[in-house]
Amino acid sequence: MVSSNDVQCLFLQAVLSRRVMTREVALKLWEKCIDAVKAANDALDIEFNGDRNSWDNFVTQINEALNPLNMDFAQMSDEITGKEMCALVNRKGDEVAQLATEYSALEIAYFKAVLHQIMTAPNEAFCITSMAALRETNNLNITKSQAEVVLSSFVAKGWLVKSRRGRYSLAMRTMIELLPYLRSTYPNNIIECTICMEVVTRGVSCYTNNCHTHLHAHCFEKYRKRSQNCPTCQANWSTEANSKKLERIGEAAYKEGQDVRRRRPLQDRPESDEEDEEAEAGASQPSQPSQPSQPSRSQAKKKRAVREDSMDIDEDEPEPEPPKAQKRKSRR
Ligand SMILES: [Zn+2]
Ligand SMILES: [Zn+2]
Repeated sequence: MVSSNDVQCLFLQAVLSRRVMTREVALKLWEKCIDAVKAANDALDIEFNGDRNSWDNFVTQINEALNPLNMDFAQMSDEITGKEMCALVNRKGDEVAQLATEYSALEIAYFKAVLHQIMTAPNEAFCITSMAALRETNNLNITKSQAEVVLSSFVAKGWLVKSRRGRYSLAMRTMIELLPYLRSTYPNNIIECTICMEVVTRGVSCYTNNCHTHLHAHCFEKYRKRSQNCPTCQANWSTEANSKKLERIGEAAYKEGQDVRRRRPLQDRPESDEEDEEAEAGASQPSQPSQPSQPSRSQAKKKRAVREDSMDIDEDEPEPEPPKAQKRKSRR
């Protein structure tokens, strides 16, 4: 006999096949599941009510059912669109096991290497150029053309985003499905939004020294409508000059050439002096005159010095593309 529990079962089946969806779609699915169950047994007294409370209660029930499977029906806002998203997430372990059904061990190792470069990108840029992504093949037994194919697949399957400028960053699916892995692997690189407490890889941060306010672009837009002061240090962001000083997080913070020098790879590289030499070589290069349109990064630099590996913070000024020889030198 059909019972109200079947709403949950139907809903879970639908979620299993879609995995990631907007909250809007999830609500629609829930409504359809109720309709289907009621059609099978019209004696059942269940009504669809799409308000926030009923939805949250339903999600709690869903998660109780998923708990023994180490799965979660997780909710998170998409950083790019600001839309609320839902996804079925494997909470077990801190590995990127979610990729195992679609990719070979080598491709997963490559994904992790690219992920590492994105998570540890200097200046809170959380992105890397395709050249830097392809450079990761040098540590792995994978050709550049194989890497190009698998990179497009990571983009197509929603693990990475490729920007118009050809830079790779984390896509929604990675943010939500691999969150336990990101948190356990990069506890010092992860930034949380001051408003919604979710992870930020695109947004703004306060310019005040030692103020740790970071906001998603969409949280920032909403917050600005009710306040013009930093929620932590109360700095007044309302003047044009001050709002320009807000630091960017994400691709807008990327500086040309910042990932030309290699950072420490994910594994298997012992502490080496080579990197320090490179960092010094980089620092001693003649720096470009700073552009007046760019806000001073000196405060940010101080702030970041705490967070970044020391070798990652010598790039204060935009640099021209270095000659090829130098790039090669930065390889093993
Ligand atoms: Zn937020
Ligand atoms: Zn502040």
